[in-house]
Amino acid sequence: MNKLTIDDLKLKDKRVLVRVDFNVPLNEKKEVTDDTRIVESLPTIKKILNDGGKAILMSHLGRPKGKDPNLSLAPVAKRLEKLLRWPAKFVDDCIGEKVEKAVSELKSSEYLLLENLRFYPQEEKNDPEFAKSLAKLGDIYINDAFGTAHRAHASTEGVTRYFKECAAGYLMQKELKYLGMTLSDPKKPFVAILGGSKISGKIDVIKNLMDKVDTLLIGGGMAFTFYKALGKEIGSSLLEEDKVGLAQDILKEAEKKKLDFLLPVDFLIASEAREDASTRVVDKDSIPQGWKGLDIGPKTVELYKDKLSNAKTVVWNGPMGVFEIDKFSKGTREVAQKLAQITEGSAVTIVGGGDSVAALAKDNLEKRMSHVSTGGGASLEFLEGKTLPGIAALTDKK
Ligand code: ADP
Ligand code: MG
Repeated sequence: MNKLTIDDLKLKDKRVLVRVDFNVPLNEKKEVTDDTRIVESLPTIKKILNDGGKAILMSHLGRPKGKDPNLSLAPVAKRLEKLLRWPAKFVDDCIGEKVEKAVSELKSSEYLLLENLRFYPQEEKNDPEFAKSLAKLGDIYINDAFGTAHRAHASTEGVTRYFKECAAGYLMQKELKYLGMTLSDPKKPFVAILGGSKISGKIDVIKNLMDKVDTLLIGGGMAFTFYKALGKEIGSSLLEEDKVGLAQDILKEAEKKKLDFLLPVDFLIASEAREDASTRVVDKDSIPQGWKGLDIGPKTVELYKDKLSNAKTVVWNGPMGVFEIDKFSKGTREVAQKLAQITEGSAVTIVGGGDSVAALAKDNLEKRMSHVSTGGGASLEFLEGKTLPGIAALTDKK
């Protein structure tokens, strides 16, 4: 992706307006309970401060309806201060005179956090006037919020119209590097693992990846709609009745393309998704009535691990089973372990999706992947081959 990056810019003494993703969870005491997203944005902020720029940070938090003190970004300023060991400035608005004054008082190597952008409905409406008011605050613009790049909002898209230079921050750059590489120039063999609950949210990802991968491994709840499409008995397993036809089309397409398209060969089943449920392992065509497939079975785990052994690029989205319940988490965790192992070799492994990342976290495997995407919806849309407005709006490299 040939977009201007933070390294292409002269930051010294400039007012650098940065869209970050500080959409972090808060507890009742308004403390940040998981600062991953803040930590991920530090390299970009540090670069600006070290180069003598003035960092003006803006983000959304949650889904406020108007100004909601419960969704103030003030607690994030406190956490930033701790992480950077450098005093934070915070202003309780994101546009207007008060904010402009705070910006004008900012010295080089200082940073200012603005209040929640979504206190204004104009943000999500991509209102040009609102975007212009934001743009007034900076000389150059950096977007480091990959997670919202699939939305054309005022702070991700509208604002860029008022700047000569709009660049990707380090986090954005990393996302583009890894996700972009998988779609444009993957090292082969390229294997995609797709799971999760439903086909419906992932149809376009499956279709787009089918043209690029050598092997496609299917797991999770979506496997059953495929088996239904093949006329098999699936008991009470998750089924999307209205997607059976589509599953048939995908299977036909895979055959036409001679794609190595694999469905699970066995399942761990139970009558209910509960920790105390009694379980059985059955082959794919033997799910009894009233039973549900809740994880891939041991033969499938071995088969999928084997397919992953030689892979040079792997994209994974969607757990192999109901991993939230220990009993049904084995398939997902074994696949994750295998990915960690091949990453130590020479494979590039990329994991996206909120639940898939949560599954990695169970065994502290996030750091052992080449890249864990921070944007759920954004990474899916990227893998669908769509143009993300927040990325398209960045300045092209000459
Ligand atoms: P991601 O967030 O990584 O994109 P999804 O949201 O698509 O993943 O899917 C995750 C959900 O899929 C999990 O809550 C998990 O319990 C569920 N799931 C996985 N396998 C099954 C299954 N066999 N039956 C029902 N639900 C499943
Ligand atoms: Mg999910």
